[in-house]
Amino acid sequence: MAGSLKYKIATLGSHSALQILKGAKDEGFETIVVATFDRESLYKRFSFIDKILKIPTFSDFPEIENQLIALKAIIIPHGSFVAYLGINANQKMKVSYFGNKKILNWESDRLKQREWMQKADVPVPRRFIKASEIDVPVMVKSYGAAGGHGYFFAKNKKEFRERIKNFKARPYIIQEYVIGVPLYIHYFYSPLSNKLEILSMDKRYETNVDSLGRIPSQNQQGLGIEPSFVVVGNSPLTLRESLLAEAYDMGERVIQTSKKLIRDGLWGPFCLETIITPEQKFSIIEISCRIVAGTNLFVDGSSYSSFYYDKPVSTGRRIAMEIKEAIKKNRLSEILN
Ligand code: AMP
Ligand code: AMP
Repeated sequence: MAGSLKYKIATLGSHSALQILKGAKDEGFETIVVATFDRESLYKRFSFIDKILKIPTFSDFPEIENQLIALKAIIIPHGSFVAYLGINANQKMKVSYFGNKKILNWESDRLKQREWMQKADVPVPRRFIKASEIDVPVMVKSYGAAGGHGYFFAKNKKEFRERIKNFKARPYIIQEYVIGVPLYIHYFYSPLSNKLEILSMDKRYETNVDSLGRIPSQNQQGLGIEPSFVVVGNSPLTLRESLLAEAYDMGERVIQTSKKLIRDGLWGPFCLETIITPEQKFSIIEISCRIVAGTNLFVDGSSYSSFYYDKPVSTGRRIAMEIKEAIKKNRLSEILN
């Protein structure tokens, strides 16, 4: 324990910062949040946050980087890092960073992501290259889309041709719209023990698609309502146990394939965003290679994390446990970039 005290756990004040820092404190680390001025009052409320470094906007992050290095901080990236800082700023970060930055190029390119999933034998939705090929409802997604923004739905190729005229984002991908239940699986892969865990799962609550059923379809006619997928929250869920083996196997294949495609591969938390069809088949719409916001439901652990640990283990806490273990074994350099 004495060794770990010399390092501090830090993150940006947004997304899953509270979970990450609470978990770090539970494991005995000092904690730092880098927050914009307007969020200081939020983070001051919590006793598990030891230090608040203030910046005017997230893009001013490089200005406090030397302070973080001097404090021996280890940065834990989350969904806001790429969304607000961009990939380049992440790659250029000099402060110790938990995770493999080489993954960023694969994750941000929808075609590379697809290649990775296909090589891992993980099922993905059909992809259409030309409008003339479209023969099912489709979802059109820009590469930078996050939190459900930057998408459109088209029922058929005629609707696609009309809507694409007003869609400015480039590049984009045309994917089959998979009809089924969305389920987000939160994994953690430990490079120290070479073990994969499922720590929790969630279902997103998206406006307006998750509320369209509140108005019967005959009453919707003529209203011109278009489905949108903007995330506003998350709810917990447990998976039918017969599907759990496949959930683990897919995660294992994703990890093994990452080691072949990307130097050192993927480690730490990641999420497979799946849709489960009526035939009980998974279709993977995206991979997120870091902690996802749905894990915020499980600050006190989940029914899945209880299978491994007798204490409440969130994804944030699991990250801190891995760092502590690496310090103990003198293997910290293997899990940081
Ligand atoms: P925020 O902290 O709300 O400003 O969000 C930071 C980034 O994470 C944005 O790209 C959001 O779209 C994404 N995000 C935030 N909350 C969620 C959530 N519950 N599910 C999925 N993505 C989210
Ligand atoms: P994503 O940003 O890729 O996680 O997608 C945001 C949301 O759009 C998902 O949670 C789903 O509700 C929906 N979605 C994305 N891709 C598809 C797809 N191929 N089929 C059906 N729904 C999708």
